Amino acid sequence: MKKTLKIVVLAKQVPDTRNVGKDAMKADGTVNRAALPAIFNPEDLNALEQALVLKDKFLGSTVQILTMGPPRAADIIRDAMFRGADGGVLLTDRKFAGADTLATSYALSRALAKIQPDLIIAGRQAIDGDTAQVGPQVAEKLGWPQVTYAEEILSLDDKEIRVKRRLDHGVEIVASTLPVVVTVNGSAPDCRPQHAKRVMKYKYAKTATELQEADSDYTNTLFAGRDYLRIEEWGVSDVDADDNQLGLAGSPTKVKQIENVVFQAKEAKKLTGKDGDIDELMKELIASHTLG
Ligand code: FAD
Repeated sequence: MKKTLKIVVLAKQVPDTRNVGKDAMKADGTVNRAALPAIFNPEDLNALEQALVLKDKFLGSTVQILTMGPPRAADIIRDAMFRGADGGVLLTDRKFAGADTLATSYALSRALAKIQPDLIIAGRQAIDGDTAQVGPQVAEKLGWPQVTYAEEILSLDDKEIRVKRRLDHGVEIVASTLPVVVTVNGSAPDCRPQHAKRVMKYKYAKTATELQEADSDYTNTLFAGRDYLRIEEWGVSDVDADDNQLGLAGSPTKVKQIENVVFQAKEAKKLTGKDGDIDELMKELIASHTLG
């Protein structure tokens, strides 16, 4: 039985696209990030819970968050620490900006090559980009096997990991060797909440940039002997990466056009709760192939 695991959870800070108002898009069709609160990508929280369950099971194991994003993305590392993670790495540098999924997964894979985890757990999909490509691309770049659509890690030992996958037609149980990349569905258990004691312990955790901006006398005293408060911050020079594969330069995807789609109801129908009304509606929806 494996004694300790080094687990990395890939997590992304995303604009909360679940509550989109009229200010969500700018006139040029880009996302108005200022109008949408930045949150922990929901399925990455499901991924974090799977990692924390393993940490509880295999004492001495560690869970680190790896996120690529702007300096404020350190917020999700702190959030994860409040829930049970040990810390994390913020990958941030102007050279990463403008990255499509290929360049994102390349940058993440270079950081992962430095961290050398036993297991990588990601969310299935981010709610803003919505491609579900990053987890599988990271696996490909590392040359690791991948298990997607995971709902539960059933068991893990020195030789293999067994995972329950949630698919359209049911569930599937698969086994893989380690190391492996697992991407987790939103149907997996919710993440545990922030723990009050951990919030008190880690609320001043900071990256190097945040430390520079903070009151230096106070933070110097606070950080003396408290290494657990330091959130790693890596730029391009901290990972062994080819500049041509990063950011805009490394992104073959080109956005040609963006269109705003506004749904408008063409006709309205008032229903009572009577069985006859519901039956009639169901027939209409099936006939129009709205329901299959
Ligand atoms: P998915 O593939 O749906 O995510 C799956 C999982 O991968 C997530 O649940 C998470 O676990 C992990 N993951 C995804 N992204 C990250 C991350 N950054 N860090 C850690 N884990 C992650 N976005 C910008 O923010 N700034 C830009 O300047 C920018 N420029 C772009 C330019 C182009 C031409 C294109 C096409 C996209 C650009 N994007 C930019 C969007 C960016 O490419 C995607 O948001 C990013 O690659 C992740 O893809 P996704 O959102 O589809 O994630």
